[in-house]
Amino acid sequence: MIKTDCHMHTSISSDSDTPMDEMARASIDAGLDTITFTEHMDWEFPEIYDLNFRFEPDEYFAETDRARKIYGGKITILNGIELGLKYDLKTSYDCFLDKYGWDFVIGSTHLVDGIDPYYSDYWCKASEYDCIKRYFECVYENIKSFNNFDSLGHLDYILRYTPTRPSVYSYNDFKEIIDSILRFIIKKDIALEINTSGYKSIGQPNPSRSIIERYVNLGGKLITIGSDAHSAEYVGYKYDELSKLLRAAGLKEYAVFKNRTPIMRRIF
Ligand SMILES: [Zn+2]
Ligand SMILES: [Zn+2]
Repeated sequence: MIKTDCHMHTSISSDSDTPMDEMARASIDAGLDTITFTEHMDWEFPEIYDLNFRFEPDEYFAETDRARKIYGGKITILNGIELGLKYDLKTSYDCFLDKYGWDFVIGSTHLVDGIDPYYSDYWCKASEYDCIKRYFECVYENIKSFNNFDSLGHLDYILRYTPTRPSVYSYNDFKEIIDSILRFIIKKDIALEINTSGYKSIGQPNPSRSIIERYVNLGGKLITIGSDAHSAEYVGYKYDELSKLLRAAGLKEYAVFKNRTPIMRRIF
């Protein structure tokens, strides 16, 4: 059974209203033994959007210290961050990460050429296929430029927001660019994050099963697991279903990062 959730947000992130205490209590109730709070940090997020996706690290570390004092006897709480990648932020992000003692850094692509695909504007520019392909190209550009992170967040995140049914797209439709991304992270010892938030909107994790299978096929073994919960009811979301999928894909272990170092745990 998977007993950790290494991707969740609290009210420290600008898109969540849930206090850290509530997330910690829900995690204990869900039977988890380790969680990582990975708040959003997206530098240069366009001001046209209502959310700024930034937080004050000192406030974050004070909050996790406080939570550990209260819940530390029941659950291990680790310090993480979800960095919004942008190819030109390498130096700024390197300096920023060096200043603090993170356990775990997720690198996620949320913007495509400065536009958030969450909004319909993004999808008016080109065909749906080309919009999706451009997302993967951006992921690859971003990680080639900056790869000081531990796990690649929600690789096919774009599928959550496609105007039509996402199930028509699979690994095969974008295999060249997806292979480049997977080969790159394997070579760099960066983990592939399996994010269960996609089960809510598209009935599959991010990345989808065919990409996970391809990752294993290419020799990938290092995965992290997280719900990307922004509220208490989604902590450890769909872990039973995910365990079966991972086992069928040939994966037996996942990693929990502490001090930026993977500790392997059995899926079953
Ligand atoms: Zn994200
Ligand atoms: Zn997230």
